[in-house]
Amino acid sequence: MNTSPLVRGYEVVIGFETHAQLSTASKIFSGAPTAFGAPPNTQACAVDLALPGTLPVLNRGAVERAIRFGLAVGARIAPQSIFARKHYFYPDLPKNYQISQYEIPVVQGGSVSFLHDGQERSVRLVRAHLEEDAGKSLHEGFHGLTGIDLNRAGTPLLEIVTEPDLRSSAEAVEYAKALHALVVWLALCDGNMQEGSFRCDANVSVRKPGAPLGTRREIKNLNSFRNLGQAIDYEVQWQIDRLEDGLAIEQATVLFDPASGQTRAMRSKEEAHDYRYFPDPDLPPLMIAPEWVERERAALPELPRAMAGRLQRDDGLPPYDAAMMTQGRAFAAYYEAARDAARVAGVPAKTVANWMMGEVSKRLNAQALAIEACPVSAAALAALLARVHDGTISNHAARQVFDALWAGEGRDVDALIDARGLRQMSDAGALEAIVDEVLAKNAKSVAEFRAGKDKAFNALVGQVMKATQGKANPAQASELLRRRLG
Ligand code: ADP
Ligand code: MG
Repeated sequence: MNTSPLVRGYEVVIGFETHAQLSTASKIFSGAPTAFGAPPNTQACAVDLALPGTLPVLNRGAVERAIRFGLAVGARIAPQSIFARKHYFYPDLPKNYQISQYEIPVVQGGSVSFLHDGQERSVRLVRAHLEEDAGKSLHEGFHGLTGIDLNRAGTPLLEIVTEPDLRSSAEAVEYAKALHALVVWLALCDGNMQEGSFRCDANVSVRKPGAPLGTRREIKNLNSFRNLGQAIDYEVQWQIDRLEDGLAIEQATVLFDPASGQTRAMRSKEEAHDYRYFPDPDLPPLMIAPEWVERERAALPELPRAMAGRLQRDDGLPPYDAAMMTQGRAFAAYYEAARDAARVAGVPAKTVANWMMGEVSKRLNAQALAIEACPVSAAALAALLARVHDGTISNHAARQVFDALWAGEGRDVDALIDARGLRQMSDAGALEAIVDEVLAKNAKSVAEFRAGKDKAFNALVGQVMKATQGKANPAQASELLRRRLG
């Protein structure tokens, strides 16, 4: 993935339109359920299809979530916004218009910030508006025909639009991840990308530095962060190739094919006037009283970037670690619980963070588990780190105990340490005898050390650890060795 500001002498310019499906139980304008995975065409009602004689009624939960989002990104919440009809014909939209917001969206401005290459980056938002989803075309299992599933019709979406502020595919992926983490953190959206709950459209153009913005092409429906990065990289090379051949870029909507890694044109882009937007006569303006906004503000949880700042300040974590600890609300809660319990035993917060980024994440990722399903509790992790801190076990032994905890072989850290005989040697006399034996057997390393080779010393420490089957305290062994050699 590309992180450099220029590609073959061109500046890359990217703006995002993201559709986050709002986690309401019912549709945006009807009482039909939004649950994923029901048999086709069992969850769209007459209102979702705008059959004659029906009227849409706005779902309060969808508005609540839009307000929450707007507050979290520092946007203006419009006291009055308007629903509009956006007209187009497509088989999965039998009513031939989508209810959306056009001229006056509910959320205006704001920004999303994230860490990129150790630097705080901020992307400006243009707007976020409420709209309904369309149905879905099904191409598999219909023998050359296309099936239509209207279950998704009327599902509430928040479309979040950025300014063209992003400058590389890597930055674009970081933005998408940060936005995803934010909407999940705020519990507005379940974030399930396979099920289409979070869909990104990337608008990409290139230009020579200092030139006006180039013509963009919009890559539709990128449903994984990996596809997103690959699609942008491919598209950038394609556009530069064309420009270098002296050809112009035409504005278009393109699709990314993960199998070939290529983008291809789907249709030339519609202009806004093609949609014949007009205010939906069935829906009054959406009025949001200041009291409602204040209620939502009061209910807002601490936000991930704010929490990361607090962990840097209060726990002394580096920015990267703080960002990792705040990757999700449950992850952050686990970290804080483990940190509090570990602190009592004098274990630094950084040690807790290291283990969470190391052992804990490694295993969760390997088994595709979320932190909620972590078999090792925060209390057990803290108890384990306390035993390393007080010298009872080595780091190496701690990983074995962690394995045992993970495998459910027990919950009591001290019992697991004893059952496995992992206590470090604390008997100084016994360790001295072993040190003397190692020195006697490794005359060559001793001579090398005396000749100024530091590596030889490490080799001797290694021999002591080996002779004690890893139960010596490495610091104590080093000290004894130095005393004998000094
Ligand atoms: P439309 O109304 O056709 O969707 P918008 O002006 O709303 O167009 O822009 C859609 C998205 O495209 C926004 O995220 C915007 O930042 C981005 N965008 C606009 N111009 C460019 C450009 N030249 N290069 C890359 N992205 C762009
Ligand atoms: Mg748009």
